[in-house]
Amino acid sequence: MSAAVTAIISPIALVLLAGASLTASVLRWRKLLGVMQRSTRSESRLDHPLARVRAFFVYVMAQGRLLRWPLAGVLHAFIFWGFLVLLTAIAQGIVEALWQGFQFQQLPGSGAIAFLQDLFFLVVICGIALALYNRLVINPTRFRGSHRGDAILILAWIGALLICMELNYATRIAEGAPEALGQWRPVASALASIFRPLGAGSEALIVLHGIFFWAHLTLVFGFLVYLGYSKHLHIITSVPNVFFKNERPKGALRTLDIEAVMNAESEADQHFGAGALEHFSWKDTLDLYTCTECGRCQTHCPAYNTGKPLSPKTLITDLRDLAYENLAGGYAATRHDAHVAQDPGATDGGANDGAAMWTSGDHHPATEHDLPGHFQPSWLSPEQVAAAVPNDGLRPLIGGTILEETLWSCTTCGACMDQCPVLIEHVPKIMDMRRHLVLDESRLPRQAESALRNIENVANPYGLSQQSRADWAKDLGVSFISDKPDAEYLYWVGCAASFDERARTIAAALSKILQAAGVDFAILGTEEKCTGDPARRIGNEYLFQERAKENVEVLKRHNVRKIIASCPHCFNTFANEYGDFGGDYEVIHHTQLIDRLLKEGRITLDAAKAQEETITYHDSCYLGRWNDIFAPPREILERIPGLKVVEMARSKSEGMCCGAGGGRMWMEEGQPRVNHRRVDEAVDTHATKVATACPFCLAMFDEGISAKQIGGTLAVDDVAVYVARALKDPATD
Ligand code: SF4
Ligand code: SF4
Repeated sequence: MSAAVTAIISPIALVLLAGASLTASVLRWRKLLGVMQRSTRSESRLDHPLARVRAFFVYVMAQGRLLRWPLAGVLHAFIFWGFLVLLTAIAQGIVEALWQGFQFQQLPGSGAIAFLQDLFFLVVICGIALALYNRLVINPTRFRGSHRGDAILILAWIGALLICMELNYATRIAEGAPEALGQWRPVASALASIFRPLGAGSEALIVLHGIFFWAHLTLVFGFLVYLGYSKHLHIITSVPNVFFKNERPKGALRTLDIEAVMNAESEADQHFGAGALEHFSWKDTLDLYTCTECGRCQTHCPAYNTGKPLSPKTLITDLRDLAYENLAGGYAATRHDAHVAQDPGATDGGANDGAAMWTSGDHHPATEHDLPGHFQPSWLSPEQVAAAVPNDGLRPLIGGTILEETLWSCTTCGACMDQCPVLIEHVPKIMDMRRHLVLDESRLPRQAESALRNIENVANPYGLSQQSRADWAKDLGVSFISDKPDAEYLYWVGCAASFDERARTIAAALSKILQAAGVDFAILGTEEKCTGDPARRIGNEYLFQERAKENVEVLKRHNVRKIIASCPHCFNTFANEYGDFGGDYEVIHHTQLIDRLLKEGRITLDAAKAQEETITYHDSCYLGRWNDIFAPPREILERIPGLKVVEMARSKSEGMCCGAGGGRMWMEEGQPRVNHRRVDEAVDTHATKVATACPFCLAMFDEGISAKQIGGTLAVDDVAVYVARALKDPATD
């Protein structure tokens, strides 16, 4: 073919190829965006623009979250950066197809670009080979439940695309083409030696060059279309997903506009939680499109790790499957198409829209019931799904896609969100579905219902008389705010330390420390009422808001500005959630305050009271992961005479939940229990003592130690109790 004919055909071929690819991609993206637009809940994520730009550079460009895992992180980072460099090769190919006379070598910096393209070809190919080895040979458990076929196909696709790109350069170098810049492409030059025997200018070499050139571009444009159907959609969606990340305090749940729901004119808006896919916000849907199925959230989920029917990964991918299924015409349509795919004799029943590829992969072994060939919600049996699908063929969200048990299994520990490299927000979705169950459907576990009733009736989840709330303080010389209106701090005791015998040791120890340090504090006594945190996490936003408004009023009446909290759940509520109700306070957790008092020398510890023990500290999720308070409790323990501090295998941001959060304290749990697993981790350290900084963690450790009958070798107490034991007696000063 003459150069003139090629010059005419080549741009036409490219325009047709790109046109077909872009048309197919745009049609797919319109559908994907359509799901987001169908959302009936608006959400603005444009606050803190500078923080968002920063997040883009930290989490996208610098791959900040992924670099937490050095090997996988570096591997992914090089693949990502390599992709950016290799985009220049795609651009180069497109320009060459459109403009035959294009002289790449005349561009400024073309040598450096060629060298980087060559270098990153090698880097990305090695990365892909390692990723394939990881998938096919190692296959770590975190990939369990992922769409494995899709992952392998996409790796093979990228590999083929890059090889065609490199062989395109190699054949041109063999031809002696100056624009190939062979001197800057050591890898392509080495490969060129394979083609040199064909002879420069030979027909065979020209044909091969053409094949590799067009194969590269065809694979690129084909990839663009396939992305819209693949889990690798995250290549595109992770950028906006990071940019639109939550910029509110991590520990704050969304405050529901109850009045707006009550007064909504449209029936579609008369719901408190998410009972259908469109009840989630557009950002929730973007989250679904962004999951890479890496499985890091699942690996760290205490519910999943103790065999409960919850994996944060499959929760997200099941929701995404539902979205894709609805795009394809609903469960009935995809079920029929899958049937057609398996049975070539069957007639074609309509557009599948590529949804069949979203057949779930291998699931949690405990509940595996795969139904090959069509959608299979991960935790539901085929019979359950079939029974749940109504006549319209659209599978329901709760009961047809996500089990109620799945939602109740979550401890809201936040490990999933902390681990996710693309900043997906699992907990708010679980909470929205719980809100639907509780407020729209009145369906919740019996024990949780009883805790809510207690909070409503007697202002504490234990159901004990409010009159006994301050009994722990009798004879301890603790003042009430009504008697001491000018106290610098209000000590918010919390329901656990007010009513639970064991947790009362925290309040007593803390009071002793504060008195020793001369801290000016008082308590509310019977005016203190549950913050509403358990109600909010169980899903009763209405009850939470009732409590919040009432407590804020009481605190306003007493002119409270500074609060000490010994319960991380109360701490989180005051610090992060009461602001929405007009309650803005300076809140300090008791471990932060004790740490400060020790550092300022306002309390001293007695070497004569050394506690010769090996101790391990258990991080409370609501203190650590949700509020980034990791150091103070550890620094306190390091200062206590005699104690040798050791860490559990999982600690700080990776610490394992005790199992009590998210209202789980008030629900029954099947075996194995989360707290028993955590006690095992403490035992593994060979520590003789455990320190906690949360009354619920204390209760869970107590139960675990007692159930395992290891009280003779392991004991647990709050950090404050260890400090109080070591306090120097004023008489010995
Ligand atoms: S918050 Fe904790 S328990 Fe809930 S899904 Fe995430 S990791 Fe699992
Ligand atoms: S950590 Fe994030 S990206 Fe990975 S599987 Fe979980 S939700 Fe998906």
